[in-house]
Amino acid sequence: MSRYGAPVGQPDNFSLAFKQGVNLDQAGITQGAGEAVRICKQIVTRAKSRLSGDTVPNDVIGFAQTYFQMDRDAFLIKKDWFVRKIGILETGINTAFLLKITDVVDTNGEPNPAANGKVPLRFKPPQNPNKPFPRQPVTYWGTTDYGEKGMVSRRTFPHAGNMHLKAALFNEPPTAAFVMLHEFCHKFLGFHDGRGEDGWYFDREGNGVIDVGPYSRYDSSRELRHTADAMAWFITKVAGKMDAMDGIANNPGAQKNKGCVLL
Ligand SMILES: [Zn+2]
Repeated sequence: MSRYGAPVGQPDNFSLAFKQGVNLDQAGITQGAGEAVRICKQIVTRAKSRLSGDTVPNDVIGFAQTYFQMDRDAFLIKKDWFVRKIGILETGINTAFLLKITDVVDTNGEPNPAANGKVPLRFKPPQNPNKPFPRQPVTYWGTTDYGEKGMVSRRTFPHAGNMHLKAALFNEPPTAAFVMLHEFCHKFLGFHDGRGEDGWYFDREGNGVIDVGPYSRYDSSRELRHTADAMAWFITKVAGKMDAMDGIANNPGAQKNKGCVLL
């Protein structure tokens, strides 16, 4: 079990906790994290704004094809769904949250140098890879006592635990912002990382074609719409704000169930 120090207050709406027993440049990370959070908010707000208009820009249609394998008509039918999801992200990023900072992200009890971050989910992924991930974590539904009206089930928020991030990310705040956006898709939307040995990630430029392969019992676009990396890249590209994507630590490649090894 990893242990983190007490949260450090921030001028913004988030706090940092540093893993105990590792030598980290806390001041530098704090400054980088502030910048990354600011960029992340900008990206999300800009993307929502561009999608909220009556006409959808052509580049957005292209990004929907790349990341969700949706053609123009399919995307337009679901456009409001995307605006709602991005709105949930925006609300989440503007509420208070805690970032747990470590030199190496620990996943399943083991240090994982390949992972940039993780958000512990409060539901168990299915053992059977052919079975869909639950759309609703076990804590997703709460029950409220309305007295005479009885007990009413309602959605609870957020879906998941605190975000863990690798300290080295904050040397490059735009990259950290992208990783955080990916992790927020887990935390606030309950999205997953795909199925199979390597998960469903795009490369560090946001390129690639995901083959949902034999795992899907839905169509590809429905699957991809619920994955963190596809949504994070879509939002980032729509916002058009991620030109500086270099400088991130090497990614030795994806590992199964080992945290988020995006980029
Ligand atoms: Zn992930």
